[in-house]
Amino acid sequence: SLSEKLESAFKSLKGEGRINELNVANTIKDIRRALVDADVNYKIAKEFTDRVKDKATGEKVINAISPGQLMVKIVKDELTELMGGEAEPFNTSGTPAVILIAGLQGSGKTTFSGKLANYLKTQKNKKPLLVAADIYRPAAIDQLKVLGEQVKVDVYSDPENKNAVDIAQKAIAFAKENGKNVVIIDTAGRLAVDEAMMTEVANIKQAVNPNEILFVVDSMTGQDAVNTAAAFNERLDFSGVVLTKLDGDTRGGAALSIKYTVNKPIKFISNGEKMDALDIFYPERLAQRILGMGDITSLVERAQAQFDEEEAKKLEKKIRKNQFDFEDFMQQIQQIKKMGNMKDLLGMIPGVGKQIKDLDIRDDAFKGIEAMIQSMTPQERSNPDLIDQSRKQRIAKGSGKKMEEVNAFLKQFDQMKQMMKMMNKMPMGMGKSLFGR
Ligand code: GDP
Ligand code: MG
Repeated sequence: SLSEKLESAFKSLKGEGRINELNVANTIKDIRRALVDADVNYKIAKEFTDRVKDKATGEKVINAISPGQLMVKIVKDELTELMGGEAEPFNTSGTPAVILIAGLQGSGKTTFSGKLANYLKTQKNKKPLLVAADIYRPAAIDQLKVLGEQVKVDVYSDPENKNAVDIAQKAIAFAKENGKNVVIIDTAGRLAVDEAMMTEVANIKQAVNPNEILFVVDSMTGQDAVNTAAAFNERLDFSGVVLTKLDGDTRGGAALSIKYTVNKPIKFISNGEKMDALDIFYPERLAQRILGMGDITSLVERAQAQFDEEEAKKLEKKIRKNQFDFEDFMQQIQQIKKMGNMKDLLGMIPGVGKQIKDLDIRDDAFKGIEAMIQSMTPQERSNPDLIDQSRKQRIAKGSGKKMEEVNAFLKQFDQMKQMMKMMNKMPMGMGKSLFGR
């Protein structure tokens, strides 16, 4: 996946401190290729990566995260921003509110209409009416009726009427008489953009003045989706996009291209043929999907928030002088604890999540250790060598631990110090990355 690629591309950067023009160039190429693979239009991918390059150049790389991880986060933030940042509101005010559904044949209009009716009814406490305005295929009316029955929403249809505009108007009158407060008009589509279809939808729009005009597009159509969106937008000036069939292998890059090209918000994501498979569109989630990444960005965010560079430098100096003491150790524990639940934290590292899912990592894993350190005097904490037999006994008593436990902990601490000392002597500062820079 792209996030894996980014991490390997940046392996060499660790320790260089900052992302610069040189070390970012290859990675930018990788990102561009990954976006094109995810169906993002090439020109858009290029503009996008140029922006990422500007953003990334000069970013400081803190040691708590890898440069690759930081890069992934920059790309994800930028993608999210480009796709609209926040989820967009959906307008259902009015009695009734009118929602017009448009798009090519097979894009998923009828399926989405059923899902939207179900969503408004079950999540928004609305009384929807579905309207069969696809008058060209008798099967289309039956299809909507079946869906209406499934979600228990009334369907307005008039098979004898050959005028879609008239059907839409009559349906709205019917809704008013029958206490329905949202009218969802499912229209006819063609296999390709054509004048007759556009004229018909435009006429319906003119006649019913919809709250929302939703353009439905099959995310698997990739590049074509952008051209279709542009054509529909020119005629209808739609208010939002519905991206369907995101349950397949598609990465959803079409969403980015559409947003970029027509600058209209994506409002819903359709994820399958079941009536409850409808999601509000959250830009950040789609950005993650396009990148094919785990939850790495929140890990980076937390690390950035908690990491204190000054502290790290001090600590490094102490380790170098072999002065690492219990006070420092306590601070490290606090640092880790501040970053959250241990298991969550480990689980956010890509590839680790699955392995630790069933493992029992207790949040209070550090409790006993903290109790023992707290039972030490300040002198003992900064000078571990002071701790003799009688002091051990006092610490055990103070912390409610057994003598063996105190002994075991002191031994572990000693071994850890030895290890740090050794790592400090290694070439290329390998040891430094343990806690600080
Ligand atoms: P319309 O011609 O625009 O009304 O499209 P339909 O709603 O009839 O959908 C066309 C086909 O795509 C049907 O076989 C649907 O079951 C299928 N379909 C619609 N939405 C989705 C979706 O989100 N995921 C999947 N996998 N199939 C879908
Ligand atoms: Mg249909």
